[in-house]
Amino acid sequence: MSFLRMGRSVANSRVNGPSEDYLNSSALDWIVECGNATCRNRSLRFWRRQMFLFENTWACSGDCLRILVARALRREAGNVGEARGRHHHRIPLGLIMLSRGWITQEQLQYALEMKKHDDPRRIGEWLVSEFGVEAQHVTRALGIQWNCPVFTDSEFDAARMALLVARELVRSYEFLPLRLAADRILYLAFAGDINRSIAYSMEKMLGLRVENGQLSDNLYTKMRGELIDVEFAGEQVHKMPNLSFMAEHIATEMERKQAANSKLVRMHNHYWLRMWFHSKFVSGTEKQLPDHATGVRDYIYQIDLSS
Ligand SMILES: [Zn+2]
Repeated sequence: MSFLRMGRSVANSRVNGPSEDYLNSSALDWIVECGNATCRNRSLRFWRRQMFLFENTWACSGDCLRILVARALRREAGNVGEARGRHHHRIPLGLIMLSRGWITQEQLQYALEMKKHDDPRRIGEWLVSEFGVEAQHVTRALGIQWNCPVFTDSEFDAARMALLVARELVRSYEFLPLRLAADRILYLAFAGDINRSIAYSMEKMLGLRVENGQLSDNLYTKMRGELIDVEFAGEQVHKMPNLSFMAEHIATEMERKQAANSKLVRMHNHYWLRMWFHSKFVSGTEKQLPDHATGVRDYIYQIDLSS
């Protein structure tokens, strides 16, 4: 869809019986200024259909767009949101389970011994597999340990969730978008450690509040399988030698695709660019929730020095 056509659909939707004043004020909305602070044309105003929208900021040309993209990449590369909460002290899982009477002192001791002997399985899995401890008690204990709710599979809508994230990210990291509440809150499920960095990235990309919670191993595995099988938005995965190459690739794709809006966030080692193609996303106040896989496109980048 061309930018011009999208522009018209917005204009038409605004012409449903408006007053003269309304028409005049919406006409002013159409004229915007370039978001590149060093732009030579900054004092000029442009019809926005001639411009690019990146993170709710307009660029008047490909050159200005490249400056905005490079700035966003530097911001994401240096983003320290990554480490938030990582070193937070938590009560050991075994102690929580012991205090609730879900395991015995002997079971705890045995599980701790096993853990010392390089067994990669986490203590909860050990207690279930070796002692027949109830899996739901482990999940509840994880909820207590991380101070978060325990989710169930009710209202899991895999098709809707697939539109909120790139498949490559679901494949690369352990997390599961579970459901939306009132298009304002995203419930994000984990089985075990809660990855706050992923929650933070999802929050920034989608403009939603994210609430984390636990799912039992069984439910988590089953629902992740369902999610991977449904249709995601189109996506491209690229390895780049450095941030400059990445910036150039992003800007070129944005010029080619003429998206209505776009945004960049980092999720651990992945840079995630999302483009939205519906004119309603031009307004920065709209929730960035696509209704269909064609309404959005994802680009996933990683820095690979050998590429
Ligand atoms: Zn400019």
